[in-house]
Amino acid sequence: MVFNLSEQNSIANQFLAELRDRDIQRDRMRFRKNMERLGEIMAYEVSKKLQYGTRIVEGPLDKSRINVLKQEPLLVTILRAGLPYFQGFINVFDRADAAFVGAYRDEFAHELTVRTEYITTPALTGREVILVDPMLATGRSATDAIDLLIKKGGRPQHLHVVALVAAPEGIKQLAQHVNVPYSLWTCAIDESLNDKFYIVPGLGDAGDLSYGTKL
Ligand code: URA
Repeated sequence: MVFNLSEQNSIANQFLAELRDRDIQRDRMRFRKNMERLGEIMAYEVSKKLQYGTRIVEGPLDKSRINVLKQEPLLVTILRAGLPYFQGFINVFDRADAAFVGAYRDEFAHELTVRTEYITTPALTGREVILVDPMLATGRSATDAIDLLIKKGGRPQHLHVVALVAAPEGIKQLAQHVNVPYSLWTCAIDESLNDKFYIVPGLGDAGDLSYGTKL
């Protein structure tokens, strides 16, 4: 199941337009803030599909019956580009457990090699898990992270993969490799990848735009 927010008009499209705009991108703080704001919007959208139970709340005047989350989802982010986007999710799911995976592209390898060397996670078994990965390009970092997480933490009940921008190649990679129930949420599905595996038109390197270039 793919949910594409850009199919509807909303303020999310304006935030995404700013993320893509190379003049506005020069303002690094605004770039991170727009990622965070889209994280909050997408967290709200995903929240509609989570499991709820009724709670009786005792107020000062009377009781109310309110449907609230049965359990907060478990948030996973892929370092480092995922951090500002993750902040938006944890602003909304403010008591969520969180897992972190460190992944980077080996620029010196002849073909795209994603190295995942750091992982810290609570148990995933039976949980609703949200994988926060802003740029779903080849999808390799997402599927490598999912494999590692399942190996270490068990199989989630449902996995929500949330990406700001997704490429068709990444969507295909998920379809071919993810073998737990999952949904994909994105703000846009772009055309393709270039020869350096960046999404086109995309927005560039989300990690560099958030935190500067790396060695
Ligand atoms: N990571 C990015 O930051 N941008 C892309 O286009 C692809 C992967």
